[in-house]
Amino acid sequence: MKAKNGNPAVVSNVFIKHWLSVIRDKSTETAVFRHYSDLLAREIITSIGEELDTETVSIDTPLAFHQTKRITDEIVLISILRSGIAIAEEALKIFPDAPMGIFGLVRDEETAVAREYYWNLPLINNKKTVIVIDPMLATGGSIHHVIDKIIENKPKKIIVAVIVAAPEGVRKILSDYPQVKIYTAALDKKLNGKKYIVPGLGDFGDRYFGTE
Ligand code: URA
Repeated sequence: MKAKNGNPAVVSNVFIKHWLSVIRDKSTETAVFRHYSDLLAREIITSIGEELDTETVSIDTPLAFHQTKRITDEIVLISILRSGIAIAEEALKIFPDAPMGIFGLVRDEETAVAREYYWNLPLINNKKTVIVIDPMLATGGSIHHVIDKIIENKPKKIIVAVIVAAPEGVRKILSDYPQVKIYTAALDKKLNGKKYIVPGLGDFGDRYFGTE
């Protein structure tokens, strides 16, 4: 797999910095948190375009023949419940015909270990590029668990798209799966004792779904 922008690839521009500053702020209300999280998700997923293969196609516009590029990768999206739902809608807008697999994983608050309670996956084989979406890469336990499940199907590429990553989670994924490419809007400092990302933004699911 090509690693064009470093691994993790930290996607950044002035909008991303602005949007992140809003969702990191603990005084940001749910509606605004959702709005800017959605914008961030869209920006990160479109930046994955760097990893995708294209072919030249000739199309017929209303005015002329035109040569351009189209994506050839066959995308499979995988969303991890609950927070992955937050990115899923933006991912489906960008890949409207991609099948989406769902993993239901719950984090044990004491041990921070992911426990699976549901999964439903579409066909994954060596022709498929799998994009795993989850807003927070903290310990890496959930995403590692998903990769463990799909790796035996030998997908063409595995790309992980998150909004905020911790070094501990990045190391966990890349030490076992160096071929996986991680895209994030921020690589934060560390995890705290409760395995939350610092500075982070708190519990993403609670803030996105208003369940705090
Ligand atoms: N999940 C979250 O929502 N926030 C963190 O900081 C870590 C995991």
